[in-house]
Amino acid sequence: AHALYVLATPIGNAADITLRALQLLAMADAVACEDTRNTAQLLSRYGIQQQLIATHQHNEREAAERIIARLAAGERIVLVSDAGTPAVSDPGARVVDAALEAGMRVIPVPGASAAVTALSASGLVNDHFHFHGFLPAKAKARDSELARLSRLDATLVLYEAPHRIVETVDALLRVFGPARRIVFARELTKLFEQMHRCALADAPAWLAADANRQRGEFVLLIEGMPARADEGEDTLDAERILGLLLEECP
Ligand code: SAM
Repeated sequence: AHALYVLATPIGNAADITLRALQLLAMADAVACEDTRNTAQLLSRYGIQQQLIATHQHNEREAAERIIARLAAGERIVLVSDAGTPAVSDPGARVVDAALEAGMRVIPVPGASAAVTALSASGLVNDHFHFHGFLPAKAKARDSELARLSRLDATLVLYEAPHRIVETVDALLRVFGPARRIVFARELTKLFEQMHRCALADAPAWLAADANRQRGEFVLLIEGMPARADEGEDTLDAERILGLLLEECP
């Protein structure tokens, strides 16, 4: 039936694609994608030829209109992003929203997501997690966001780019304190995949010990605020955060 299929693609290892995803990619009328070269490469690996519709953050509104017109004409359109699950720290949400508003059927096709992949092998308490994705690029905005996030009783999930990893980890240590654990999930499913878990106190030294550890794509997981921190620790935590917030006041 005509519908918009929101379809997850691999986050590194091309074999991490489901049979259902391949079937849908092959039989769709068109594939809306972030970067046509990237998606063409994935499709050609599986011998699939498709019409591609460029749908990136700069043209999402116009692309949405074209996609909705085609859905209304009875077509099946697959929406993908460059890697992982569309609309999660990726374009796609606007197209999905517009399609739903226009009364179209939207069907999710699950697969890889860097956040959930990292969480699954982190060994942290994952009953609750808070997905934040990318932090603000500017230091002040980043630190006040972190101060807020540091109060959560849930594992924090961040996405980070290699050129900011050292600064971000320094900021995490400053705001969250030395005791909580961090997990570096680097290059998941790829050749140089690495998962490393340590106390935040030891995180800057671990990164600095080998330049390769600062390369590639990262998910950072940080343990939530201890639920039963004794009062003393809690006060210290509050004082540190208050201090950080005051530093930012004009
Ligand atoms: N939609 C994707 C998903 O479902 O995970 C996320 C896309 S976002 C633009 C890209 C960021 O996701 C990277 O900067 C990195 O933080 C994270 N990421 C994607 N692939 C990864 C991988 N193989 N290993 C570690 N992190 C990854």
